[in-house]
Amino acid sequence: MANEYKQTMNLPKTGFPMRAGLSKSEPKRLKDWQGNKVYEQVLKKNEGHKKFVLHDGPPYANGPIHIGHAMNKISKDIINRYQAMQGYETPYVPGWDCHGQPIEHKVEEKLGTAKFNETPVAKIRELCNEFAVENIELQKAGFRRLGVLGDWDNPYLTLYHQHDAADIEVFKAMFDRGMIYRGHKPVHWCKHCHTALAEAEIEYSDETSPSIFVRFELTSKPAGLEGFDGPVDFIIWTTTPWTIPSDQAVSLKPGEKYVAVEHDGRAEIMLEKLAPSCCEQFGWEYTPVQIDGADYVVDAEVFYHLHYKQPVFDGIEGVALLADYVGTEDGTGIVHNSPGHGADDYYVCVKEGMDICMPVDDDGKFYVGDEFGCGGPFSGMDTDEANPHIIEFLRERGTLVMEKKITHSYPHCWRCKHPVLFRATDQWFVSMDKTGLREIAADQIKNHVKWYPAHAANRIGAMVEQRPDWCISRQRNWGVPIPSYTCADCGEKVMNDDTLDAVIKLFHEKGSDAWFTDEPASYLGDACVCPKCGGHHLKTDRDILDVWWDSGVSWKAVCEYRDELQYPADVYLEGSDQHRGWFQSSLLTSVGANDIAPYKAVVSQGFTLDGKGRKMSKSLGNVIDPNKVCDEMGADIIRLWVSSVDTSSDVSIDHEILARTSDAYRRFRNTYRFLLSELEGQFDPEHDRVAFDELMPLDKLMVARLTQVQAEVDDAYASYEFPRAYRALYDFVVTELSNVYLDALKDRLYCEKLGSLKRRSAQTVLAELLSMLLRDMQPILAYTTDEVMAYAPAGIVDNQKYAALLDWYKSPITFEEANEFEGILEASLELRSVVTKALEEARAAGTFTKSQQVKVKATVPAEMYELLCGDKAVDLAEFYIVSAVELTSGDELTATIEPADGECCDRCWNYRTDVATYGAHEHVCARCAAALGE
Ligand SMILES: [Zn+2]
Ligand SMILES: [Zn+2]
Ligand SMILES: [Zn+2]
Repeated sequence: MANEYKQTMNLPKTGFPMRAGLSKSEPKRLKDWQGNKVYEQVLKKNEGHKKFVLHDGPPYANGPIHIGHAMNKISKDIINRYQAMQGYETPYVPGWDCHGQPIEHKVEEKLGTAKFNETPVAKIRELCNEFAVENIELQKAGFRRLGVLGDWDNPYLTLYHQHDAADIEVFKAMFDRGMIYRGHKPVHWCKHCHTALAEAEIEYSDETSPSIFVRFELTSKPAGLEGFDGPVDFIIWTTTPWTIPSDQAVSLKPGEKYVAVEHDGRAEIMLEKLAPSCCEQFGWEYTPVQIDGADYVVDAEVFYHLHYKQPVFDGIEGVALLADYVGTEDGTGIVHNSPGHGADDYYVCVKEGMDICMPVDDDGKFYVGDEFGCGGPFSGMDTDEANPHIIEFLRERGTLVMEKKITHSYPHCWRCKHPVLFRATDQWFVSMDKTGLREIAADQIKNHVKWYPAHAANRIGAMVEQRPDWCISRQRNWGVPIPSYTCADCGEKVMNDDTLDAVIKLFHEKGSDAWFTDEPASYLGDACVCPKCGGHHLKTDRDILDVWWDSGVSWKAVCEYRDELQYPADVYLEGSDQHRGWFQSSLLTSVGANDIAPYKAVVSQGFTLDGKGRKMSKSLGNVIDPNKVCDEMGADIIRLWVSSVDTSSDVSIDHEILARTSDAYRRFRNTYRFLLSELEGQFDPEHDRVAFDELMPLDKLMVARLTQVQAEVDDAYASYEFPRAYRALYDFVVTELSNVYLDALKDRLYCEKLGSLKRRSAQTVLAELLSMLLRDMQPILAYTTDEVMAYAPAGIVDNQKYAALLDWYKSPITFEEANEFEGILEASLELRSVVTKALEEARAAGTFTKSQQVKVKATVPAEMYELLCGDKAVDLAEFYIVSAVELTSGDELTATIEPADGECCDRCWNYRTDVATYGAHEHVCARCAAALGE
């Protein structure tokens, strides 16, 4: 009998598969998107609307994509897909950073250094170009596979002619405003990469260095020690012994007291408060020199401008200076100055009007020669190689007091990870202050750009506040040249508006390669003249621009030059390391040329770490390869992971986290499947939809609830807080839909007559849910939502085929209207939790097996009673899936379980008092009899 009735029920059915099989289905779907130009269709849909431009920060084109890349590109895609659904025209032009040392280094490795060094620049550049383009194709395929929509066939490359020209156009704009100058300054220098490095290219990490204490013998006696018989020494300390050959001065801390300690008949000068501990380390007795019965303790100022013997070069003297940077916690309170190799040293000595000595070449080797300014005994040695030799030299001279090893934070090259040097060399700089660049940039950061998270403004603000002038020249081959010439006749540097205009024209036509191949006379025309001597023999200089300049001017080369984009862009999104890199170089070049920031908003993201919070590395075996995850689990799993983590700080990923993400994915997928199984082929919104006012009370409640969730999701996307959208949707799907509401609806969906108001009311809500979940998840589950489209009734997918083409979800009621249901929603859920607890206890006691077998008697407080019985009252028995709920008003909130009245209907298995024989239908409830058509 029961079996017969089963056939009369409306059981769920859909072609949407339970098993996802994403790794197989996604590549086919992607091919379809490409074949049918879905990206172009999205643009077309919103053509002529207001634009929303997310300008892509170009990844470096070396090597395959990693999980950090994946997070970056997926985040951008989420934003673009969301904004496109809002109706904005969302052109997205992906880019690649193609110039720079890492690629040149790869080419050098491939050729071998000897062959590399004899290869013409033009050939090296050709090889670098090839390498970059190969890698771009590799990365492009990876990004597309992740489901990222964009103009992949027309990306921007920083090696395009137009980009080369834009480099110089921006350079010229800033040059004309007086911001660019050539100066002699200590800059970070990587001897491994043979180039100057910007502050942004420096990383600090621990390094073990030799720390030495050395005697510098004074050539005259300081005031008060005239009567002392033996020699007088400064005891200096340094952690870079190789800078001793270029020593030019020592610095003492002004305002501090210095003591002379007597040792071996010598007077050794040290900071008074450090002297006892120093003596202990040296194995000396602490015996201050006695002058007139008192310790010789004097102000640092006493030593100012006294001279001492240069520790390596005989006949040369150094000078004692005063400097605030001298530390009083470590060492002896006296530091040696090598102004060619230290920023602090440099500024102190320049202030004194001294000439700067810098004896180290581009490779980090001492110049060969016996005189001061060369390596002397260490000629030709590498600086690291020289360290032990210099220590040994000092030991033999008897001036080494002590040597030990210390571990300290030391600057390293961002690219090759080797420790860097300071070298004072001739370089090109952008002045931060001469024309107010720093001030305007700081104002833009603070008052004109929105930062996500908000505290990022302080981070980049502080960096711009403190940064030194920007050193923009590099001594490499693979980049855009700094367009300066040297007069072959008189040595004058030549650069002016005429030469710059000619170079811009040249680069537009032939790209920057022409700099290395074409004779200046061939393109400079009348501009090929030295303003100093009138000669016409100009030679191209060899410095290239910092690669950060290249990517930094993309606001010009891309946003301004490409018609579909706009400048300033709406948003830039990159990793937080770009506060020192691209965010900053873009800001400085844009403010430098136009006084405005190139972006209206900036989203910064943390790094991707493994599940234990460690960096990923091959040696740790904790690398998550996005290509592999796509092949094994599907891109939608990575996308869902990206949406679920708080990218405003560092995020974690490992196989366990991906497995959890995969579970979450299944919850979403099952929900889609449930919704489709009640709608596919059975619900035509145009004919079957029930107006909000006609909906069953429980269904109204659900629409109110989804309207609230929708508002939260909308707000989260708009403020780039994807995990808030994810969390709202996940909780809604799992704790509200799956566990509560969808279960409660099954009775109506399965048992009510097809086409009846009660059933259509339920389906109407399911249609709203599907419509909402499709759109809200489309930015994240790009592939899966697209798969759902094929099974969803045409009326709820805007008659579109592709999910990317949907417009944003709009609830049938407003947020304010939804909030009117807050009271009944809370009351019915609060009572539900009490009922659920009572049911669990009764079930555990064996009172019943199915909740339909019982009725609930509940006492609820008066206020709640009014809500539950008021004008928005819902059918609580249906909601809680019991046979009946009897409410009384009382003081407390309690629920008791009793056996249901009546008998079990053979068809719907509900206990009803009206179960009887209706015509041909035996032992069914009146509702079922009606559904059966009697
Ligand atoms: Zn390096
Ligand atoms: Zn000249
Ligand atoms: Zn029934």
